[in-house]
Amino acid sequence: MLKGKREVLIISGPCSTESREQILQTAEELMQFCPPDIFRAGVWKARTEVSAYEGAGAESLDWLIEVRNKYNLPLAVEVLSAQHTKLCLEKKIDYLWIGARTVANPYLVKEICNELKGHDVIVMIKNPINPDIRLWTSAINRVKEAGIKNIFAIHRGFSTYSKSPYRNMPLWEIPIELKRLMPEIKIISDPSHICGKTSCIREISQKALDLEMQGLMIESHFDPKNAKSDSNQQLTPKQLKNLLDSLEFRTEAGFEDNLLTNLREEIDCIDDQLLENLSRRLKIVEEIGKIKKEKQITILQSTRFKYLFLDRIRKAKELNLNTDFIREILKAIHNEAIRIQSNILDNKKEN
Ligand code: PEP
Ligand code: MN
Repeated sequence: MLKGKREVLIISGPCSTESREQILQTAEELMQFCPPDIFRAGVWKARTEVSAYEGAGAESLDWLIEVRNKYNLPLAVEVLSAQHTKLCLEKKIDYLWIGARTVANPYLVKEICNELKGHDVIVMIKNPINPDIRLWTSAINRVKEAGIKNIFAIHRGFSTYSKSPYRNMPLWEIPIELKRLMPEIKIISDPSHICGKTSCIREISQKALDLEMQGLMIESHFDPKNAKSDSNQQLTPKQLKNLLDSLEFRTEAGFEDNLLTNLREEIDCIDDQLLENLSRRLKIVEEIGKIKKEKQITILQSTRFKYLFLDRIRKAKELNLNTDFIREILKAIHNEAIRIQSNILDNKKEN
C-alpha cells in the first residue's frame, strides 16, 4: 500500500479461520473499506489453554483460496510444522509465516526449513516469545540457508511475567538491533499481538512506522466480539480503515530528523523500561519491609548494603559507566528503599 511517499505493506485478516462465511465476510469488508496487500489467517493455532480454539485446520485453506481467487489477494498462513509447510506449499499459499512459539524451537524451524528447500515462497519470521535475538536471527539464517530469497521479519513483542500495559512487551531495542545486524531484512510490525487489545494498536502502529518498519500486520474480523480467538485485539475492517487513515506515514525527506526521531524513540523506550524496573524493584523492597517488620529485623543491613554497592560499582565499571554517577543513583534508590521500609515499620500508608 502506498501512502504519502512511503510504501508500507498492509497485512490483515482474522486471527484464526472459523468458518467459510467468517473468512469470506471478513475479506469482503476488508476489500470494501481498506483492501490490504495480503490476507492473513491462522489455520492452525498453538494455544496455551487446553480448551482454547485451535483454528479450522487444513480444510480452511480452501476458503482462503476462494478469497484469493475472488479478490486477487495474496495469502499468508502460519506454519507450525513440516506437515503444515508441505500442505501450504501444495496449495501454493503465497506467504508462510513461522510463529513466535515455533521460532523459539530451533528443531521445529529446522524441520520446516527442510520442507522449504527448493520452493520459491515468501517466508515471514516472527520474533520468538522470549527476548532472545539469537533465536530470531538463527531462524532467519536457517530459512536463508534453505534457499528462500524473500524473507521478512515480524516484530510481535515478547511475553513477560511482570505486569505490563501490553500483552507482549515491544522491547523496541530488539527489532532495532535486528535491523542493525541484518539491514537487508524488512521488518513488519504486528501491533495486534503486542497490544492484546484494540486501544493501543494505533499508538504501537505509529511508533513502528516512525521506527521505519516496512509493514503492519493487524488482525481483523467482521465480528470481533464473537471471534473464537484473540477477540479483544481484532478490529472490524471499518475500524482498521479509520486507524490506517489516522496514521502519519512520515517520509524519509529529512534524514537527519529521522535519525534524531529514531534515537529519541529508543530513549523513550529505555526510559519506560527504567521506570518499570524501578517500580518492580521498589515493590520488592516493600515486600522485604513487611518481612523485616514481622521478624523484627532492622531496616539497615550494612553487610548487604556494602555488598550491593561494591557489586553494582564493579558491574558499572565493566559497562564503562561513570562510577560517581552510578554511586549517586544507587544512593538515591537506597534512600527511597529506607523511606518505604521505615513507613512500613511505622505503619504509615504509602501513597
Ligand atoms: C498470530 O499471528 O495469529 C499468532 C499466533 O501470532 P504469534 O505467533 O505472534 O503469537
Ligand atoms: Mn492472533
